[in-house]
This record gives sequence, C-alpha cells and structure tokens, in this order.
Amino acid sequence: MITDVFCKILNGELKADVVYKDDDFWVIKDINPQAPVHLLIVPIRHFLNIEDFHKDEELLGKALIVADKVAHKQGLKNGYRLIINEGDHGGKLVPHFHIHLLGGKRLGPKLVKE
Ligand SMILES: [Zn+2]
Repeated sequence: MITDVFCKILNGELKADVVYKDDDFWVIKDINPQAPVHLLIVPIRHFLNIEDFHKDEELLGKALIVADKVAHKQGLKNGYRLIINEGDHGGKLVPHFHIHLLGGKRLGPKLVKE
C-alpha cells in the first residue's frame, strides 16, 4: 500500500488547502510556501516520477496546462515559475510526482542558491 503524504491527502486521510480539482489532478497549497503563491500540481493516480509518465505522456502535458490555468485563476498575470524536483539530487521530498508553481513576486533568474 502506498502511503505518501499526497496519496493520504487524495484519500481524505489528511487535510490540504485544495485550490483546483479535475479528473486527473488536484492543486493544493504548499504547507511551507517559498513565494507569495506556492502551489503543488499533484496527479490523482500515484506516479513516482517522470519515468512513470512514459506510458502516459498526454497526462504529463495536461499537468502543464492545469498549472497554467490555475496560475491565471490565481491572478499571476506577470508570470510564474514551475519546478519539478526529480530524484535525490533534484531535492525530491515526497515520492509522488508533483510540480511546484511559484509566483506572486519577481523571482529573478537564479534557480539555485549557493
Ligand atoms: Zn502517492
């Protein structure tokens, strides 16, 4: 049985602040926001990583469309940033694929702090 935090949220075992739902994705607020707007695009089906999407490329494409729609709904008309932390060196914390959506201020071009 898969027991990561996102599966627990999707199963109703844990609460989250959900800002968007459809048949494939939920978008929830990050509990430790790194920007004025910090959301997580989470597939309802358990995908560990990008490799799991090799069998379902369309769904990975849809994740970006969902992110863009939600960004517009959140009023991020000046832009936003999407981040995927993949694997140990990528800084992945939860073993359930998700995309970070950050915005609400000018984030600057630097992606990694020294
Ligand atoms: Zn999961």
